[in-house]
Amino acid sequence: MRMTRMAIAAVVAASAVVTGTGFAQAAPCSGYVGLTFDDGPSNDHTPALLNALKQNGLRATVFNEGQYAAAYPAQVRAEAAAGMWIGNHSYTHPHLVQESQAQVDSEISRTQQAIAAAGGGTPRLFRPPYGETNATVQSVEAKYGLTQVIWDVDSQDWNGASTDAIVQANARLTNGQVILMHEWPANTLAAIPRIAQTLAGKGLCAGMISPQTGRAVAPG
Ligand SMILES: [Zn+2]
Repeated sequence: MRMTRMAIAAVVAASAVVTGTGFAQAAPCSGYVGLTFDDGPSNDHTPALLNALKQNGLRATVFNEGQYAAAYPAQVRAEAAAGMWIGNHSYTHPHLVQESQAQVDSEISRTQQAIAAAGGGTPRLFRPPYGETNATVQSVEAKYGLTQVIWDVDSQDWNGASTDAIVQANARLTNGQVILMHEWPANTLAAIPRIAQTLAGKGLCAGMISPQTGRAVAPG
């Protein structure tokens, strides 16, 4: 059946009403942001994080430590099954800028292997611990085809930020930007429903981080 101009207008008006009542996932995305959660996986925190993200219609990039991917492979699989993108966050979370090229190579390559062996795929994104990088780190990233992802906004959740402050940090995001969060702070978990509401209110959706650009884009 062909819709008349008037019928189309009615559908548009109806969808606007639905959006206004809080069914925000029906709203179109005017842009994408990259939510990131570092330092997992774990049996203690990953299940609750994944549940909260799923319940609120959010997808995120999780930067896993290789030592934890090796210890908790089922959680890596759970991350992938929940639609998360899995990145490399080194094996033991050292200050890589103080390490030799061979040590950096070991940190990155063993993590690639641990995540892949767990069923998380071969990562294409790398976040250096503490956001610390140099020419040696970048040369090893290139060797493994990894795009370095730091962040545009630091939620400060690692530094005791309140749930309100974590929500407000997310509210500062604009199209394409990436925010640093972690899987372990209780305040971060508590913030997730309000992060979803805040982003929806700005017409922003949670996207993937492009391995080509390191920027948040539509999932694809
Ligand atoms: Zn970290």
